[in-house]
Amino acid sequence: MTRPTVLLFDIDGTLITTGGAGKRAVRRALEAWGDRVKLSPTPGAGQFSYAGMTDRAIVRRGLLEAGGSPTEALIDELVDSYLDALALEVARSPEDAYRVLPGVERVLDACAERDGVALGLGTGNVARGARLKLEHVGLASRFAFGGYGCDAEDRAELVRAGAVRGAALLGRPLEACRVVVIGDTHRDIAAATAIGADCVAVATGPEPLADLRKLEPTFAFADLTDDAVVAAILDGR
Ligand SMILES: [Mg+2]
Repeated sequence: MTRPTVLLFDIDGTLITTGGAGKRAVRRALEAWGDRVKLSPTPGAGQFSYAGMTDRAIVRRGLLEAGGSPTEALIDELVDSYLDALALEVARSPEDAYRVLPGVERVLDACAERDGVALGLGTGNVARGARLKLEHVGLASRFAFGGYGCDAEDRAELVRAGAVRGAALLGRPLEACRVVVIGDTHRDIAAATAIGADCVAVATGPEPLADLRKLEPTFAFADLTDDAVVAAILDGR
């Protein structure tokens, strides 16, 4: 019998690529804030790599770069503004730029068919942003729960929140469950390690496979089309 298993999939660079929709939305939110406080954000503000970062951490750094002082209330406000902008950016994204990554549907089908598996998200996106991004490509209904960027700014804490929810869904204590983080960056690997979870790293984001391998995730693949991916995720072999 398979050990009860909680799967936590990252979104950006793992399930989908958005062609920069998220970055454009953050930029719009920073500009709207700049207009309101009569300050033009520095041209390069918010243009750093968002890979593996949580939405709140992105907004915090973007605000600092733009010349603002990120209080918690201001971050809340900017995240809301970002989400409104994200809805527009997602809707207008061209299909070739905003798409599901190779192998994703097949892997999700295999995971959904297996008993004793809770299929969830482990993402830096806040829950509303995660839903928005996944609904656009018809993937939102695949995931019953998640750990999100609104649970914690720290990635290890948000995947822990997801693991707790997944175990509750399975009706098992967390200690009885195998937890697997599937993600595309060093931050996914670090978060998995921090909570004692397995990690399946996939090089469909900005970080090369060789770099991911150096961090010793449980498994690493070029993409999710590899024949060995399903066994790695579901059986740990
Ligand atoms: Mg990612």
